Amino acid sequence: MSELNELYQQLILEHNKSPRNFKKLELYTHDADGYNPLCGDHYHVWLKLDGDTITDIGFQGSGCAISKSSASMMTAAIKGSTVQEAKKLFEKFHTVILTKIGDTISEENIEELGSLGALAGVREFPARIKCASLAWHALNAALTKKDKSISTETEKN
Ligand code: ZN
Repeated sequence: MSELNELYQQLILEHNKSPRNFKKLELYTHDADGYNPLCGDHYHVWLKLDGDTITDIGFQGSGCAISKSSASMMTAAIKGSTVQEAKKLFEKFHTVILTKIGDTISEENIEELGSLGALAGVREFPARIKCASLAWHALNAALTKKDKSISTETEKN
């Protein structure tokens, strides 16, 4: 295992152990449920929007280390950013984790993701891609959907 992979591994474990923004928001404007039945990951995401800015975000629930650390990194990355910035980051993250094994991802693309780049390695484990993207899909559902609940088995990845 390379030094970088080891560093990433530690970052994932650290976020899993002490997830950021792991709380229910008392005051929120948007929320949604995210469920990945294949792995049993189940989270709820709360958002507080002020105009177009995500002023606060929290999540709670349980699941594997990948899903929890991804949710934690997501909340840390988008808190304080605008909805457009959050969606753009999701696009970049999604592109990286869906890059086929054997295809190269540029260092630049991974760097742009900040700590979320630690999850780039899940693309080598197709079953875990849904774990890594679950919180993001829940975020998307909170921002756009009416039924406020998503399951990875009704969405693509
Ligand atoms: Zn999982």
